[in-house]
Amino acid sequence: MPSPTSDYSVLAHLECSRDGSRHDADVVQGTSPLGAPLLARYDLDRVAATVSPADITARRADIWRYHELLPVRDERQIVTPGEGMTPLLDLPRHGARLGVAGLRMKDDGLVPTGAFKARGAAVGVSRARELGVAGVAMPTNGNAGAAWSAYAARAGMAALIAMPADAPVITRRECLVTGAELHLVDGLIGDAGALIAAAVRERAGYQDVSTLREPYRLEGKKTMGYEIVEQLGWRAPDVVLYPTGGGVGIIAMHKAFRELRELGWLRGDLPRLVAVQASGCAPIVDAFHAGLAESTAPADPRTVAFGITVPKALGDFLVLDAVRDTGGTAVAVTDDDLLAAQAALARDEGTWICPEGAACVAAVGQLRESGWLDGTEDVVVLNTGSGLIYPETVEDTAQLLPRGAPIPSRRSQQGGCAPTGPE
Ligand SMILES: *Cc1c(COP(=O)(O)O)cnc(C)c1O
Repeated sequence: MPSPTSDYSVLAHLECSRDGSRHDADVVQGTSPLGAPLLARYDLDRVAATVSPADITARRADIWRYHELLPVRDERQIVTPGEGMTPLLDLPRHGARLGVAGLRMKDDGLVPTGAFKARGAAVGVSRARELGVAGVAMPTNGNAGAAWSAYAARAGMAALIAMPADAPVITRRECLVTGAELHLVDGLIGDAGALIAAAVRERAGYQDVSTLREPYRLEGKKTMGYEIVEQLGWRAPDVVLYPTGGGVGIIAMHKAFRELRELGWLRGDLPRLVAVQASGCAPIVDAFHAGLAESTAPADPRTVAFGITVPKALGDFLVLDAVRDTGGTAVAVTDDDLLAAQAALARDEGTWICPEGAACVAAVGQLRESGWLDGTEDVVVLNTGSGLIYPETVEDTAQLLPRGAPIPSRRSQQGGCAPTGPE
């Protein structure tokens, strides 16, 4: 392995997202003294002077192709089972159905652990190990815990995870199989977070890596934005829709697009960013339409899109800023609509996506109907996970044939989705 050079990462310092104050990036950090998320800042001039988009395109096909713009200084610290450079799929049939010809999906169902949380875990765990952290501790709605457990195992670190008892069952097993210490909580992610904060105070060497309470998960998720631009030939789409829970991904993509523009690798307007939530838990959507800078937790948050059941996000003000800064919007989708979109997309395009991603597909339909989209835009929806993690989102209607019985002729079968046409 090549020896690390000072240019492997050009991380410069951390910046408070509230007051812009600077903080040391080379010690373990949580939030700023104001309790706000810390954002990583880089020596972008140095990157612009030494690296070109063509150099990047020739590199390894994972998130580490952007290593100068990621915080890990020593390449040997990288923990990677191979995440990133996921497909940017055309959705021609479904796009035609919705009246949006230029519809594409960034499919992050195809990453280790089955959800895009792997991106944040890859960078977060690698940097934590580099800074000497012995164990990571976090509350989770499931997918983040699964990803951080897996990456911690590969890094030789401990993982302490607290998860609502209602979270998707498969994610518990993902934590357990990789050796994490897992606790189920009777409550929501915020309740789990309070337990983790208390436990970390008692445990030497553990870091609280809750959403936006450490600076580097966001840096991992930022690579979604880089990849979309690179995959379009160093060009931005007009609109990007993102299923918003804690909001890390949308904040991160906003940061990514701005960094690329500062580097001169992206010109023109930033994509309009759309925060999509489930109507059963839509605090960001409510705050956006009320013209507020921060959100208020809804009373009884509930949706099948479990990964976006976040009643009060620490970074809500940053999500709202990302949406407003880019001329975007915020949309709430009912569970019925997002499940219908999930099924329709699977039939049109052969891809079973998670309900959170499906919320974005449903939102495209809503925005087209309302006229916010005129149908000529290049639109990218983020699919944040595989449908395989959510088997209960599809009803199992398969029929058991009596032993020895033939398969019934198509005409006598009830329902089903066999293509019609000459037999
Ligand atoms: C966590 C999660 C989200 C929300 O991610 P944020 O970046 O925290 O808003 C969306 N979809 C899935 C599948 C998730 O696991």
